[in-house]
Amino acid sequence: MEKSNNILNTLRKLFPDAKCELEYHNIYELLIAVSLSAQTTDKRVNIVTKQLFKLYPTPYELSKASYDDVYNCIKSLGLAQIKTKNIIALSNKLINDFSSGNSEYYVPNTREELMTLPGVGRKTANVILSEGFKIPAIAVDTHIARVSNRLGLVKSNDVYIIEQTLMKLFDESDWYIVHHTLLFFGRYLCKAKNPECNRCPFKENCEENI
Ligand code: SF4
Repeated sequence: MEKSNNILNTLRKLFPDAKCELEYHNIYELLIAVSLSAQTTDKRVNIVTKQLFKLYPTPYELSKASYDDVYNCIKSLGLAQIKTKNIIALSNKLINDFSSGNSEYYVPNTREELMTLPGVGRKTANVILSEGFKIPAIAVDTHIARVSNRLGLVKSNDVYIIEQTLMKLFDESDWYIVHHTLLFFGRYLCKAKNPECNRCPFKENCEENI
């Protein structure tokens, strides 16, 4: 734990403002934004969701939307066809299976329930739990998987093993900041191609043979 806490302290200093970069106003918007974020940047998602959330402010409106209208709104994102299908189907499921009757955008707050929604896997569910509900969870994406290995925190490419290992290495109260600082480190410094090793505070102990 000493090694992992030292790494976390350094990451906190490197990225004191690490946080979710997706823009949202409520848990429904967060769920849609995260669902759209695969294979694109948060910046591009934010551009698209500005218009999308104006047109479809609740799951009710999105569940009634036509495929073509939603597709035209999000087509600048990667995987737009499948994302269009998923977010319409997901909204239908929110209305049909999870509507509490007194909330316009009821989103379930357990991993099991979240993962029944179309297009929602474990990573997305963990983001919603952690970011939306403040329930401790670590969402492992491609950045976190890569940097966790390079930093020597884990030796695995299996995202489930990485998640479980990180959960053991860090205090539950730190999981939110562990997720965001590792993510920022992977996005802005220890990139997949051309990592900026010359300015990396971990270069002496890096596991990457570069
Ligand atoms: S030395 Fe380079 S590859 Fe290693 S952790 Fe730092 S930035 Fe990443």
